[in-house]
Amino acid sequence: MGKCCDKTGKERSVFSNREEALKTADYEKREHGVEFYPYKCDKCGYWHLAPAGRKVSFRENACGCKDSSGVRGKRLYDSKEDAERAAMTVREGGRGTMHVYPCPEGSGWHLTHKF
Ligand SMILES: [Zn+2]
Ligand SMILES: [Zn+2]
Repeated sequence: MGKCCDKTGKERSVFSNREEALKTADYEKREHGVEFYPYKCDKCGYWHLAPAGRKVSFRENACGCKDSSGVRGKRLYDSKEDAERAAMTVREGGRGTMHVYPCPEGSGWHLTHKF
């Protein structure tokens, strides 16, 4: 399994799949009381854990995309990590599985129910 470094050059823990990452996240929560959430990395194609404390950043009406009703603008997430985190919050809230996809305008990430 390859190495993957974050923006600060620190090596990330790499997991081959979501289950493995979740297991470690559970462990960290139990043992250290720190929450992490798994996300799939664009760079290496494997899974990493990101601290759950960080605020998800998104913008409203930042692109031309509309939600399924065709009325409201879609939330545009600044990074795939943010979008994955938001998707996980939805899933944990029992509101279904959301998929992350890049904005066709190329400026960020969206969530969708259909795929
Ligand atoms: Zn990576
Ligand atoms: Zn968009």
